[in-house]
Amino acid sequence: MTIRLAAPLQSDSVVDGFGVRTVIWTQGCSHNCPFCQNPQTHDFNGGCEFDIEEIKEEISNLKNQDGITLSGGDPLYQIDAILEIAKFSQSIGLNVWCYTGFLYEEILEMGKKNHKYLELLNYLDVLVDGKFINELKDLNLLFRGSSNQRLIDVKKTLKNGSIVLIPENDGIIENFKNRTEELYI
Ligand code: SF4
Repeated sequence: MTIRLAAPLQSDSVVDGFGVRTVIWTQGCSHNCPFCQNPQTHDFNGGCEFDIEEIKEEISNLKNQDGITLSGGDPLYQIDAILEIAKFSQSIGLNVWCYTGFLYEEILEMGKKNHKYLELLNYLDVLVDGKFINELKDLNLLFRGSSNQRLIDVKKTLKNGSIVLIPENDGIIENFKNRTEELYI
């Protein structure tokens, strides 16, 4: 299996989710959000194809990373590949964030036709959902560009059966650190 990426894996990011993270920039997106910051990632034939086993090996050799972040582009257009990557990353103790232009509710609908979308949710810690809307752009937002986008705590959401957001207050980092320790230590 292969995955089409816009760039090689980018380690040591501190702006793509909690902690120090490695970002996987997937190639391909058709949401066409006006003023998208990564238009070069839209073309489904752009970027380069990578063997999924090579990506997994690269992930297993990462040092001092709290987790991986699936970004793009929109990772959900390559569901088979990102499911494999998310599953593998979680199995070696990395937490997994995923950015998508789809809404959580739309992913549930997509899951009715392809169960892999639902399966993916089991391997995500945080889903940042929704298109970027320039009119709602706010530079003070945590880990996202516009206020319509949600930081969804996927584990709690699946447990509750309704959407649970990551609380945005001064304690967020501490809260998330504690939860990461609960999950992985
Ligand atoms: S979903 Fe993301 S990559 Fe796709 S157009 Fe919107 S902002 Fe750009």
